[in-house]
Amino acid sequence: MDRCIIAVDKSGSYRVYIAVTTELVRTARDIHGATNLAAAALGRTLTAAGMMGLMLKGEGDRLTLQIKGDGPALQVLASADSAGSVKGYIADPSVELPNRADGHLDVGGAIGKGSLTVIKDIGLKEPYIGKIDLVSGEIAEDLTQYYAVSEQTPSSVALGVRFDRQSEITAAGGMIVQVLPDASDEAIAKLEDTLFLMDSFTLLIEDAEGDPDRLMELVFGKLPEEFRPEKLDERELRWHCGCSRGRMEKALISIGTKDLGELIEQDHGAEITCQFCRKQYRFSEEDLKALLREAVNG
Ligand code: ZN
Repeated sequence: MDRCIIAVDKSGSYRVYIAVTTELVRTARDIHGATNLAAAALGRTLTAAGMMGLMLKGEGDRLTLQIKGDGPALQVLASADSAGSVKGYIADPSVELPNRADGHLDVGGAIGKGSLTVIKDIGLKEPYIGKIDLVSGEIAEDLTQYYAVSEQTPSSVALGVRFDRQSEITAAGGMIVQVLPDASDEAIAKLEDTLFLMDSFTLLIEDAEGDPDRLMELVFGKLPEEFRPEKLDERELRWHCGCSRGRMEKALISIGTKDLGELIEQDHGAEITCQFCRKQYRFSEEDLKALLREAVNG
């Protein structure tokens, strides 16, 4: 089971969400048959959404993180709830590009120019929606910008997915560091130095061997004692879709009687694939006729 640690430094200057998400990202990769590049983009997005979902307070609160660009990946979307369930998809899981000059996967190139949207459904009449232009399409940088612009919260976001030579995912994880309102200048200066001098976050995740406590130690261990984060809480993150035949029936009813009638007359049935988990739902002509009766009767 993947875990996320929530911690605050002893001076109360900053908060940390730090997670190892290797299982979550492997599961998503298997479901979508993603290339390394697509798995990196999807894995980063799922990891971020998972941590951001845990920041929501209410039971049933849900967060959606959507990254849309003019690159070949087109769109990456992840959705997570406050209980640590995460799901997501990438529009083109077969996307491939040459590596960047520094040898890294070109996630920014796969995404291209576009926008990042965060939708928080927290039980109000209208969801909260924050949207920014992408900075680099590398996702972590874009989220740092989102927090600065849309939420006025100085933050630092790091995300990583690591592969071995056989293209197996060896480690995945992420970190969101947020400055708290009464932060001390000294703590923030020390924190900034630490993050600036940090080794590659992706390598640190691998060194942590699946243990977020170890990852936190690797990132923050060199800080003076009084500015090191202390664990407040630990939560689980897991892949969970939650789709069902009942939900697909509702979706079919919602397309309206005209379109349902066409599915019956022309296609004599329907097959719907869940975009998140790829599960297929088949509806026979008889099934559709029953749904049409339901739609007509409201
Ligand atoms: Zn599903």
